Amino acid sequence: MFANRIARARAAMAEQGIDVLLLSVGADLPWLCGYEAMPLERLTLLVVPREGDARLIVPFLEAPRVVERPDVFDLVTWRDGDDPVALAADLIGAAGMAAIGDQTWAGFLVDLTAALPGTRFTRASEITAPLRMVKDAAEVGALRRAAAAVDRILADVQAGNVALAGRTESAVAAEIAQRILDEGHRKVNFTIVASGPNAASPHHEPGDRVIRDDEGVLFDIGGTMDGADGVGYCSDITRCVHLGEPPSGFAELYGVLHEAQAAGVAAATVGTPCEDVDAATRRVIDDAGYGEFFVHRTGHGIGVEAHEHPNIVVGNDLPLVAGHAFSVEPGIYVPDIWGARLEDIVVATDAGPDPLNRIDHGLAVIG
Ligand code: ZN
Ligand code: ZN
Ligand code: ZN
Repeated sequence: MFANRIARARAAMAEQGIDVLLLSVGADLPWLCGYEAMPLERLTLLVVPREGDARLIVPFLEAPRVVERPDVFDLVTWRDGDDPVALAADLIGAAGMAAIGDQTWAGFLVDLTAALPGTRFTRASEITAPLRMVKDAAEVGALRRAAAAVDRILADVQAGNVALAGRTESAVAAEIAQRILDEGHRKVNFTIVASGPNAASPHHEPGDRVIRDDEGVLFDIGGTMDGADGVGYCSDITRCVHLGEPPSGFAELYGVLHEAQAAGVAAATVGTPCEDVDAATRRVIDDAGYGEFFVHRTGHGIGVEAHEHPNIVVGNDLPLVAGHAFSVEPGIYVPDIWGARLEDIVVATDAGPDPLNRIDHGLAVIG
C-alpha cells in the first residue's frame, strides 16, 4: 500500500518537475509511509527523491516508534548534538525543486533554505492533496466505520439517553469524549456541545454554562479511528436536539437548515464542481432569508485529517470524482439568540452521493 502511494507521488513529482518530496509533521507523512511524526521540536523528515531510495530521518530517541518498512524507506537517525538540517541537506543534495510538507515547522524551512541556496521550495500539498483526496475502498471503509461509531453516540443523545438539562456543557462534552474512545476511536478530535445562544458560535468551546430544560443543544463531535496499517481516519458529525418543544422561530430555522443540507447532499454527484454543492445549500438558506447567518463554507474534505481537501466552497471549481469524501454542513447562526448546524460526511460515488452518517436529520425533541 505505502510503496504504491510513493510510486503515485513520484509520478506526480515527475509531472510537476519536483526533484524531492520532504515530509515532516502533518498527515501527509503517515498517509505516505505509515509513520506519524511527534509534533515536537526535533526534526523528523521523510526525503523522497524522484528516483532512488526514500529515507526517513528521525530523532534517535523516537526511532523505537518507527515500524520499519524496508520496501518504503530506509531509516536514518540523528542524536542530540548532531545537526539534523545538515544531515537533511546532505540527503537532499542538488535538488533544484523541493516540495515540502505544508505543516513543517517554519524554522526548519528557513534553515533548509539557508543550507540549500540552489533549491526552490513549493508546497507538498500540490503533490499529495490530489492523491489523498480520492479515497480507495479501504479508506472509505475506515471512514464508514468511524461514521457509524459517532452515529451511535448521537443517536443515543437524540433518544434522550444522555442527561443534558442541569449539567454543564463541559460535563456533557467529557462524557461524549469518553464515548468516542469507547466506540473504538484512538483519539478525540473535538466535542462541541453548544447550548442555547452558544450555538450561534460555530466553533464554540464547551464551558460552564448549565444546559436549561427549554433550549436547543448543538453537538459537533469527531475523532480518529485506525484504518488499514495503523493510519487513522476521522469522523465528524453534527446534530441538534431541543429540550422541550422548540419555539416556532427555531423550528422554522431548523426546517430551512434541514432542507438546505439535504439539497447539498443531493447535489454531490460525480462531475459536479465543489462550489455548486456549496451553492445548493446556500440557495435554500438565502431564499428563506437567513443568508447573512450562514457564515462559513458548506464543507471540507475528510480523511487522515479532520479537515483536508477538497473544500466545498465558492471558488473551488474542482469537479467531484468517485472517492471524494467531504462534509456537507450548512449552519444558521443568529448571534446571541440561537444557532444550528447539520452535518454528514458524504462520499461521491458513480452510483450517487453516499452519506456515511445515517441517523435522523430532524430536530430531536427531548423531554
Ligand atoms: Zn468546523
Ligand atoms: Zn463537524
Ligand atoms: Zn466538519
